[in-house]
This record gives sequence, C-alpha cells and structure tokens, in this order.
Amino acid sequence: MDNAPDVIYFKDRNGRLVLVNQSHAKGLGARPEDIVGKTDFDFFPKKRAEIMAEDDMYVIKSGKPIIDKVERATRPDGIDNYVSTTKIPMRDERGKVIGLIGITRDITRRMQFDRLKKEKIRIEKKLEILETLNSLKSEFISTVSHELRTPLAIIKQLVMLVLNETTGSINKKQKEILKKTDNNIERLRNLIDELLDISRIERDKLKLHYSLVNLNDLLKDSSNFFKKLAQEKGITLSYHLPDKAINLFIDADRINQVISNLINNAIKFSEEGGGIKVEVKVLETKVRIAVVDSGIGIARTDLPQIFNKFMQVSKTFETERKGIGLGLSIAKELIERHGGEIWVESKVGVGSKFYFTVPLFYRPNKLNKQVKNKIDSLLNRGISAQFINLLIVDYKEFRKRVSIEPKRLFNDIRIIIDGVIKKACQADVRNSSIILTDIRNGRCSIILPGMTQKKATELANLFRDEMKRYFIKNKTRNAFITLGVMSYPRNMHLRKARHFPVSFSIKEIYIGSETRRFERTLYKVNIKILVPKNKTESSQTVDISKGGICFVSSRLLRTDSRIQFRLDFPKNKGSIYTEARIAWIKKMESSPGKTVNKYKVGTEFINLKNKYRKILAREVKF
Ligand code: ADP
Repeated sequence: MDNAPDVIYFKDRNGRLVLVNQSHAKGLGARPEDIVGKTDFDFFPKKRAEIMAEDDMYVIKSGKPIIDKVERATRPDGIDNYVSTTKIPMRDERGKVIGLIGITRDITRRMQFDRLKKEKIRIEKKLEILETLNSLKSEFISTVSHELRTPLAIIKQLVMLVLNETTGSINKKQKEILKKTDNNIERLRNLIDELLDISRIERDKLKLHYSLVNLNDLLKDSSNFFKKLAQEKGITLSYHLPDKAINLFIDADRINQVISNLINNAIKFSEEGGGIKVEVKVLETKVRIAVVDSGIGIARTDLPQIFNKFMQVSKTFETERKGIGLGLSIAKELIERHGGEIWVESKVGVGSKFYFTVPLFYRPNKLNKQVKNKIDSLLNRGISAQFINLLIVDYKEFRKRVSIEPKRLFNDIRIIIDGVIKKACQADVRNSSIILTDIRNGRCSIILPGMTQKKATELANLFRDEMKRYFIKNKTRNAFITLGVMSYPRNMHLRKARHFPVSFSIKEIYIGSETRRFERTLYKVNIKILVPKNKTESSQTVDISKGGICFVSSRLLRTDSRIQFRLDFPKNKGSIYTEARIAWIKKMESSPGKTVNKYKVGTEFINLKNKYRKILAREVKF
C-alpha cells in the first residue's frame, strides 16, 4: 500500500480515518500515525469535507460502492488537480458495514490528455471544413478562369480581324489603339493562365510532360523576343551559355515559363540603362540557371516571402505594369517538381540574382539521336529508370598519373559494365540498357530502364568491385574508386514525388587518383609546439614537405585550428618558426602495454617566411 502512488485509506462508520498509506499522508502533509482518528474536516476546507462526508455516509448507509467519481480538487498544498475516487464498503463476517476503503487517484494528466484529444478533434473538423472551402475556392478559380478564357479568345480574334485589315483598312491611330488593346489582351491571358496554374497546383492537378531537351536551344528560342522587349525599355539583355549541349529531362514548356517569368520580372523591375544577364552553369550534379539584373532590388526583410502566393513587395514601382504576384510561387512549384531548387539574392538599389537548378541525370554531354530517341520513348511510356554514373575526378591529373590510355580505359570500362549487366540482369534489362561514354571528359553513364533501386545499388557495387579488381590487375597504384549515392527525387515532399511521372535514381561512382600537392620526405627533427594558450609540447616530426609538416602529438588538436611551432635543426643548422593550420589528425595504433594516446598531425604552413623556406630546402633536400 505504501508503495502505491494512489491515495488509499480506511475509514470507520463515522468517517474517521483508521489507516492511511504514505501517499495520502504526504498529500496531507502529516505522518500516517498522526492522521489516524482524524476526519476530512481536519484537513480540507469545510465545503470539500462536507461533500466527502456525504459520499462516505452514502456508502456506509446504502452498502453500495461509489466507483470512479471524477472531481476537481484542490490539494492541501494548494495545487489544483483532477481526481478519481472509488469508495467501497467494508463489512464484518456477518455482512454488516463497518467502514469503507477509499482509493483516490490523481488523473490530472489523463484529463488534460482527454481535453487535448477533444480539442484535436475540434481542430481537425475545422480544418476539414477549411480544406473543403479552399478546394471549393480553387475549383471556383478554375471554372471562372476557364470561362474567362473563351470570350477573351474571341475578343482577340475580333481585334486581330480589324488590326490585320481583313475587315477594311484602318488608319495609323486606329492601328496603334488596337495594338495596345492586343497587348492588354495578352496580359489578361497571362493573368488567367497564372490563376489556372495556381488552381491546378492547389488541386494537385498540375501535370508535367517530360522530354529530353537541350537547355541551350530552349533559351535561344526565346532570346530574340526578350532582347527586343528589353531593348524597348533601354535595357541590355545578354546570354552566357556553355558551348556544349545540355540535355536535360524537363517539361520544356514549364521551364520556359519559369525562365520567362524571371526575365520578365528582371525587365519589369529594371530602369532604363540597366543590364540583365542570363547565365547557365553546369555543376557536378545539376545545371544552374541565373537571371541577374541591375534593377531596384528587394529588401532583405521581403526576401523570405518573395516566393509566396500573391506576394508583391516592390509596391511603389510602376504599379501599372505589375502582375498579381503569382509568377514566382508558380515558378517555385515547377522547379521543385523538377527536383531542383530556386532562390534569390538581392540588394536594394544594386539588383537581384534569381537562380534555379535542374538535376543532371547522367554525365556525357553529347547524345546521339538514337540514344535521345530511346530515352524519349522511355519517358513517354513513363518507365522508371536508374542511372549509374561513373566519373573520373580531376581527369587531367588522373591521365597524368594513371598509365592506362584513355581509349583503352574506357573500352575496358565498357567491357566491365557489359559483363556485370550480363551476369546480374535479366534479358530485358540487358537489351534495353544504354551505356554512354564521354572519353574526353572522363565520364560514363549507364541507363537502366525498368529496374528497381535495390537492383541498381547491387549493380553499382558490382561495378565498383570490378573496377577495383581491374586497377589492381593493371598495377595502377594511386587509383581509388568510391560509390556515392544521389537518390531522386531528392528532399521532395512525398506529395510532389508522386507527381514525378518517371521514377529515377542516380548512383555516382567516382574514380580518381590520390594526389598529394607536395612530395613528403621522411625527416626527424625536434619540434616545439605552442598550442593555443601557450602550452608547449616537445615532440618530433615524422615527415616534412614544402607545404607543411607531420608530427606526433599526445594532444588531440582540432582540425583547422592554428598552431605555432619551432623546428630546431641539430648542430646550429638553424631554426624555423612559423604558424600552421592543422589539416588532418590520425589516431595512432597504441603499442601494447601503453595507454597514452598518440596522434599523427598533418599541418600546412601559413605564410612561411622565405628565409625559413631556404633552410628547409637546404636541410630536407627536396
Ligand atoms: P508579379 O506578377 O507581381 O511580378 P511575381 O511572383 O513574379 O509576381 O513576383 C512577386 C514580386 O517579387 C514582385 O511583385 C516584385 O515585388 C518582386 N520581384 C520579382 N522579381 C523581381 C526583380 N527582378 N527585382 C525586384 N523585385 C522583384
């Protein structure tokens, strides 16, 4: 009883306490033996005690129990809580009620939990209503936009009839007016399209149609139009595109829409004499497109909201040419659906830089028509594909250090890949896999249609192992190979991932040569290390190079931290004093019986003075 957290007590027929447990005594702030013989009136406020006594009398007189009576109570220590009380009559051998057993349990937490549960249900119901209303609103926008489109298309046709003089000749002034009308019809159509897009996004109805597209061509297609548009405002627009083709899996119309929105905004928020740059950069795993303007810029506080729906921040600027603040939020959705990212850097009065990325699925730039068609048909049929990319890191250096002829190496890689696929895959994968090599840049991609991610991982591991074996067989020292994984769609909200019509995943295999910038010479010399806070430590170097030294330390230093040290060459051959950065630390295997930890520490000199450089060159003989 004393170990129970519940309050337990026995009372006689008069409601006097006969026995109480520790928990009850503690709650009442007295010792158990001091409570015996007292009644609830001695501990509780009168009103509360009266209610308790009433219950006691009911149980004793009727002989019936009270079970789980929930009450709000104030404990003697002043804390408000909820309790559940059960009172059971106690009888003697003849069945006469001689008192009662009471058990009171603190159920405050349970009550709070129940309340929260109810609150949660209430909020969920509200949310449901709001969601219904929201989807009604989206439906409404969608219907209205569609309805607006038809008469607008007719107005456009009619205006064009007159403007093209099909209905008879018009004068210059009339032509001008109708041209303006047409421009405004276009603006209205764009607004309606944006509304339709937003309602599609909200209703999960936005569908993307992927194909293999050369980004450069896509940008060039609209460049004349935008250059002219910019020129009309006295703004120069320039494109900086890579020479090589950039083949991407994208919905060309949608990516075009994003680019158009960014360029339109750049023109809209730039003043006469301004300049706009459209830049494309091919990065390791993605392509980055930038639209950079020298316009009015965006305040730092507004930046986080810029991609929100209906958000317009540069309120004072040329209000008559503004849209409705939907362009960027649609752009964000479109780019994220493509597995990319979009962001902005901006400074008021300096200009804005809008960036977005689209993932690169495979390495080689050049794709012949046959391969292109093969991939396109894959995309059209919505078949999943796994990519395994082999990439030689720092290919120039690799070619210098690894003696295998590039042509032979890639031939061998192809044979290895073929072999692995033959061994590990079924006939359908064997026949439909695509191997692309780019010898000039040291890249290779394998496209495996209709394969599971698990199987692709297995294959990638097999490739890696086979390549390792190959390098050993060819006695290629210094070559390393690692497997990196980039899953796709990456970091995407599940809801969005579902919309991706084709399931892709990418495995990256990196091949490289171990490179050291400086040849290291084994050289032992005494070193005094002044670690931060001037705690000196004496030790010896392991090796020395032109760029730094390696020494043994008994202290665990931090990488990237700075230290100072002095090297004392024997027999007055001179000393070197310098600052250095800790580049790496390796724990040394401790010799048997020794418990002291030792670390090998690699450092890089920071601004080594010329006179010391000379001493090093003379003594270490590089
Ligand atoms: P809008 O149709 O209003 O242009 P967007 O979503 O495209 O809608 O842009 C939202 C807001 O972001 C714009 O109203 C403007 O305030 C700001 N903005 C967008 N691009 C730029 C830019 N290049 N320079 C300055 N402000 C910009």
